[in-house]
Amino acid sequence: MTNALLEIWDTPFGLPPFARIRDADFAPAMAAALAEGRAAVAVIAANPERPTFANTIAALELADDLLDRVAGVFYNLSGADANPARDALQREFAPMLSAYSSEITNNAALFARIDDLWRRREGLGLTDEEMRVLTLTHRSFVRSGAALEGAARERLTEVKSRLAVLGTAFTQNLLADERDWFMALSEDDLDGLPDFVVSAAREAGREKGQPGPVVTLSRSLIVPFLQFSSRRDLRERAYRAWTARGMNGGASDNRALTAEILALRAERATLLGYESFAAYKLETEMAGSPKAVRDLLMAVWEPARAQADADAGRLTAMLHDDGVNDALAPWDWRYYSEKRRLAEHDLDEAELKPYFQLDAMIAAAFDSAARLFGLEFRPLDVALYHPDARAWEVTRGGSHVAVFIGDYFARGSKRSGAWCSAMRSQRKLGGDVRPIVVNVCNFAKGDPCLLSYDDARTLFHEFGHALHHMLSNVTYGSISGTSVARDFVELPSQLYEHWLEVPAVLDRHARHAVTGAPIPSSLRDRLLAARTYDMGFQTVEYVASALVDLDFHDGPAPSDPIAAEAATLARIGMPAAITMRHATPHFAHVFSGDGYSAGYYSYMWSEVMDADAFAAFEEVGDPFDPATAARLERFILSAGGSAEADQLYTAFRGRMPGVEALLKGRGLDRVA
Ligand SMILES: [Zn+2]
Repeated sequence: MTNALLEIWDTPFGLPPFARIRDADFAPAMAAALAEGRAAVAVIAANPERPTFANTIAALELADDLLDRVAGVFYNLSGADANPARDALQREFAPMLSAYSSEITNNAALFARIDDLWRRREGLGLTDEEMRVLTLTHRSFVRSGAALEGAARERLTEVKSRLAVLGTAFTQNLLADERDWFMALSEDDLDGLPDFVVSAAREAGREKGQPGPVVTLSRSLIVPFLQFSSRRDLRERAYRAWTARGMNGGASDNRALTAEILALRAERATLLGYESFAAYKLETEMAGSPKAVRDLLMAVWEPARAQADADAGRLTAMLHDDGVNDALAPWDWRYYSEKRRLAEHDLDEAELKPYFQLDAMIAAAFDSAARLFGLEFRPLDVALYHPDARAWEVTRGGSHVAVFIGDYFARGSKRSGAWCSAMRSQRKLGGDVRPIVVNVCNFAKGDPCLLSYDDARTLFHEFGHALHHMLSNVTYGSISGTSVARDFVELPSQLYEHWLEVPAVLDRHARHAVTGAPIPSSLRDRLLAARTYDMGFQTVEYVASALVDLDFHDGPAPSDPIAAEAATLARIGMPAAITMRHATPHFAHVFSGDGYSAGYYSYMWSEVMDADAFAAFEEVGDPFDPATAARLERFILSAGGSAEADQLYTAFRGRMPGVEALLKGRGLDRVA
């Protein structure tokens, strides 16, 4: 039997032939891909010719072609559509891939060639992009331990392998906890819930094989439940289950894993000669050092906490007015905040919801990209990996740009959250390779599917990442698309959220699901006026998580991360009725892999820039100003990692921003 993963994909746009890929194909395909990569690297390392950029760096860029293809398919499926076979494969692949990557960085002959090029770099006549790729390749080898010797190198290889295994286990435990829990609701339990929540709960019940509605731990179901359910007892039960993910005891408990992960990361940093894991990790980010991160977070923390404390007082009074003689609890916040929003801004989520249909919001994201960058979107009739996933061809001026896949609905086989990935990245080396970009979300299914305003923002956010991939225009795959500093990568995504706030976009696309009428201008204005509502809460839950992440990695590893988390929260004066947005046992950003470890602050670092970048459009009085959009594409969206992030931003805006635009954007500049 042939293995579809190893064939040439003679399909429209070279899309993976999903219908013919069987789970049993992945292990042999991965083995073949690793063998091919090893052979290619061996040829480069053994080349008798003097190292050149072409025979070493460019050749290395192409060595993992098959691996990129196989892994591109596999990791998209294991995140968006897991099953026991794929879970087992993921556990099997983690140490294999770690060993493979260590083997390459530990290849002394290969590193000698890269190092030789690095020393001679000024005389090689390289283009700017080639110089950048050489610099990043050399840096990445050094940071991976290529310059280490003997026992230190062996130990580092072991540490990295163990970290890969632990990250996979953390992710799978979390998915298991999220998949297993639900709370059935009787008719009496529906009190306070608007129709859209009841309908989403019934759909969730069907998915779980239950006769009636249920609440699951999916954010787009549990958050509206907490906002609207008048049953304090049920809110407490749901909230406790939601925040206990990864700490329920038994096989899926993540607490011991977090301690081991932090200890190994600290050891990794020590082996490489860094003071702490945060110092190691932040060296290559825009922030540069733990101190710069802490300074930003604390500048935001103080006004945010002051705002949250003032808000807590208001909400407590509302709780007491309801005859509940108790302190405001975390499961009360969203409920009373929703009531207060209705009272103070005359804004009701249930009134808003019919205007935010999924399909209309997809159209709004596409339409904004058309006006800004001239992109066009055409639905494709192709078989994908799940019936809920949809694909579009993206073109400009009749030329193919990318394939965009949107996979929007929550299901038990999908990990939580929302993300963007490229099943294939843009590059020009070895042919004009166009990207296949995927947006995955977890919206509650409904008929029609109605989003919250937050959900719609998430859709725009992920689409901003997708644009970063789709508009990428570089030669080398290693610096393509979102291959940029972590604290810069959220700029395109967070910036794109601003177009959802453009009145003309709302007027055109926010239409009533039943009547088709556009959103009334008074409702639209009330929505936009309430944009910074409850920002104290939102900022506090986020910054607390970011500070805990930073503390975990800035210094010796804590032996008991749960106790360390509590100590950080006590030190910063965490308000009693707010919890971290992600507590340690389910803090996937930090523990599922290295992506956002000592890096959860990145969203806020990028926000400093996104607030300022959108102001560039506002200053010229047109959110679709062609000249500003062209600069955005040229210096940021098409540039990938071809230069340092601050250089790219400065090229776009003429200067770097201060924190003021962020505080203003969050309405925290007025807090005493
Ligand atoms: Zn993002």
